[in-house]
Amino acid sequence: MAIPVVVLDPELTAPAKQASQPQVFPAFASTSAPLRHVDGAFTDAAKIRELAQQVDVLTVEIEHVNVAALKEVADECATTGGRSGKGIKVYPSPSIIGIIQDKYLQKVHLAKRGVPVAPFLPITADSSAVSSDDPLASLVPSVLEAGEKFGYPLMLKSRHLAYDGKGNFVLRSSSPSDVRAALEALVPASSLSSPSARPLTDRLYAELFAPFVKEVAVMVARGASGETRAYPAVETIHRDSVCHIVYAPLRPPVDPKNGVGREQRGQNAVVGKSVNERAQEDAQKAIDALGEGAVGVFGVEMFLMADGSLLLNEIAPRPHNSGHYTIEACNVSQYVSHLYAILSLPLPPITFTPPAAAMLNLLGYSDSAKDDFLRPDGVVAKAVELGAAIHLYGKAGCRKGRKMGHITVLGASDADVRTKIAQLAAVLPGSYA
Ligand code: ADP
Ligand code: MG
Repeated sequence: MAIPVVVLDPELTAPAKQASQPQVFPAFASTSAPLRHVDGAFTDAAKIRELAQQVDVLTVEIEHVNVAALKEVADECATTGGRSGKGIKVYPSPSIIGIIQDKYLQKVHLAKRGVPVAPFLPITADSSAVSSDDPLASLVPSVLEAGEKFGYPLMLKSRHLAYDGKGNFVLRSSSPSDVRAALEALVPASSLSSPSARPLTDRLYAELFAPFVKEVAVMVARGASGETRAYPAVETIHRDSVCHIVYAPLRPPVDPKNGVGREQRGQNAVVGKSVNERAQEDAQKAIDALGEGAVGVFGVEMFLMADGSLLLNEIAPRPHNSGHYTIEACNVSQYVSHLYAILSLPLPPITFTPPAAAMLNLLGYSDSAKDDFLRPDGVVAKAVELGAAIHLYGKAGCRKGRKMGHITVLGASDADVRTKIAQLAAVLPGSYA
């Protein structure tokens, strides 16, 4: 769309910086200093300021950013700042990013506005149980109280800086050793000693463990005027809490009462409109519930329960892994919708083009997996053979569990794309299917 994009990222060769070379855009070259990517942390206020000076619209594609610094640039640059001197807009609004950053506050915010979520409770520190040599002990009464209320397994979650399951712990029982293991995993000793450490009472919250039948996600685009567009509901399959495979659209399991048929692998018989539509509606309502500053694309993660109900799990205020399939399978990708939204352009209606699509994440399984993907007998060669779309991100380092790329397949039916994903998975180590 010939929109120059300037990127702030700690890595000198960050994938986004490789994809976009803003300084060569002719529209800007003659009028002012060339645009330059910024090297630095998302949390560094000075770097955020440096970025803000170069742009008219500032957005994020990770929520773990410095919200206070974003608020400052949004306020200070509101009328005269930015590249054009006409002010800058920050989308989504920093206050919404702030709510989403704290998973507990996110749940409180959504629950208050009628969005169905799994029951949850804060884990607070009990001052009478405090002992300086064992600070974690102060959290135990609150954990046990949540366990009594919600039963076991109990989902314990870090309120801040969680991603890819890091920050979640499934507590199996109320036994002192299980509780201790959970607290030690979620509140590491190293995080207690720093002077800037968050108070223990703000660290964790507990949720009912939701025995979902499927995990579902919907990408929603919302413009500054409040219009929303929902992409189809999709099924997301997680492995070790990391999104691993996405099937689009969602083929829901049976619910004879509301007329949704049994999932029929191989026959592509059921599109399950009712659950798909409900998921889209719920996701749009949840984004509206964030407030006026909810502008851009949002990934809405949900649980589909056995009775057909949907519970919202969490919202990502940005393009999302569950929306990568939109690049090939929709008339406009999640990224293009994001640009339309943050540039205050009318949002295009969404069309899902193929009968079926699926995405396989290429997760690092060793330090050398990146090279293995490219071997003649590797997954990339298999993807070429299948006519699949290959996305390798060009990240510098490969680690176990790191998202290094993804492959999207389109097909004539749900069964067709499932077969192709199984063929791709077969050339990767581990049980990918
Ligand atoms: P992250 O920020 O790491 O994506 P999530 O809160 O989405 O954290 O949790 C990661 C995964 O853990 C979810 O996709 C789901 O598989 C599982 N999970 C999260 N919350 C619950 C819950 N309350 N009950 C059951 N499983 C859950
Ligand atoms: Mg999640």
